[in-house]
Amino acid sequence: MDHNLQLFQKAKTLIPGGVHSPVRSFQGLDRPPIFMNKGQGAFIYDHDGNDYIDFCMSFGPLILGHGHPHVTHALHEAIDLGQTFGTAEEKSLQLAQLIIEQISFIDKIRFVNSGTEACMTAIRLARGKTNKDKIIKFYGCYHGHSDSMLIEAGSGLAQMGVPSSAGIPQSLVKDTLVCNLGDTAQLESIYSQHRDQIAAVIIEPLPANYGLLKQDKSFLLELRRITKENNSLLIFDEVISGFRFGMGGFSHKLEIEPDLVTYGKIIGGGLPVGAIAGKADIMELLAPTGPVYQAGTLSANPLAMQAGFATLTQLTPFSFQKIKENADRIIQIFNLWIKRSHDPIVKKFKIVQEESLFWIHSSNKNPKSPKEFDPNMKKDFKHLFDLLIARKIYISPSAFEVGFISLAHDEHVAKELQNRLESH
Ligand SMILES: *Cc1c(COP(=O)(O)O)cnc(C)c1O
Repeated sequence: MDHNLQLFQKAKTLIPGGVHSPVRSFQGLDRPPIFMNKGQGAFIYDHDGNDYIDFCMSFGPLILGHGHPHVTHALHEAIDLGQTFGTAEEKSLQLAQLIIEQISFIDKIRFVNSGTEACMTAIRLARGKTNKDKIIKFYGCYHGHSDSMLIEAGSGLAQMGVPSSAGIPQSLVKDTLVCNLGDTAQLESIYSQHRDQIAAVIIEPLPANYGLLKQDKSFLLELRRITKENNSLLIFDEVISGFRFGMGGFSHKLEIEPDLVTYGKIIGGGLPVGAIAGKADIMELLAPTGPVYQAGTLSANPLAMQAGFATLTQLTPFSFQKIKENADRIIQIFNLWIKRSHDPIVKKFKIVQEESLFWIHSSNKNPKSPKEFDPNMKKDFKHLFDLLIARKIYISPSAFEVGFISLAHDEHVAKELQNRLESH
């Protein structure tokens, strides 16, 4: 038996499904997950030393690439001073200041350990601020795995073919109202049915957890208007999009200001960090100044803060420009490969791109909502995944996960991609 298979057999005896997060299991792809043990730049390496061009990039945090020397050096420096203090400290201040100075709608920020925690806290804060209970989310958007957000959520669940999770109390389900993306009429109708009960609307302004479902700006402007008129908060979940399209994330790109924003992924530079941020009058409601409780043993630990700061300080306008150029070059190569292919399934694929985020799908036209997905997408994706893995190109292992391009995916990597695609 090969080494990878041995590892997977062992993993399954120790860990449910052999993985610590479901999408890593390659479920539905009829093959065991590949155990990786090293990442460098745009490449990830398995136990046999095979190098794959990585377009998953740990699902988003590694915008500078694997093991960027500046981040690695900063981490070495931090570890020499200890792992965690559980006290007030200075490292989080430089990261907080950097963010607050550059993002127009943020006065205060609090760091937590994951995107899930950030969204969970944002919702509690919205309820605390408005004294209302209900939250509106959108079908297909993912906001982490807290109970009230695991309703009609993203790809890991879509992959398993279940609309939500077991273990969620009915009493909670009634407070999460689900609307279709892009459907302003439905949103208005939910508001009229539950007048004065809606604490917040939460959305990924660029939904990227169930395909890449670009929304019309007019729809997002409607969200801003409706929430304001009804004294609800608008929460933008920028866990994926934050710091990917410039420091101001997708909010600045849209020129729409949410009341609260959540971050994760890039903000920790590959270490576990999440954050919730917004105007002072809302943020000050958090304990210890306010009545909304939130805490964390390892929140803002110096290693994570140092990795985040090292990452964000490398994200200059020049780097963002480079990342965009890298992405355009790579998408062009993929598109050309699709166009020239004689394989009828490959010919069906289309790529939705938003700068360094992309999604390869086989629906007829680019969907704006999961309702528009082609029923064959999972089957087609499996075919694509097999073709790419055989060429040592690693994409996120689900039809509904997006791809990530980093600063490290430069012209050399693009050339290598081209060679690998043409190699069969
Ligand atoms: C990844 C993600 C989360 C959850 O973050 P974790 O760090 O995995 O808990 C929440 N919202 C969005 C939009 C995400 O992409």
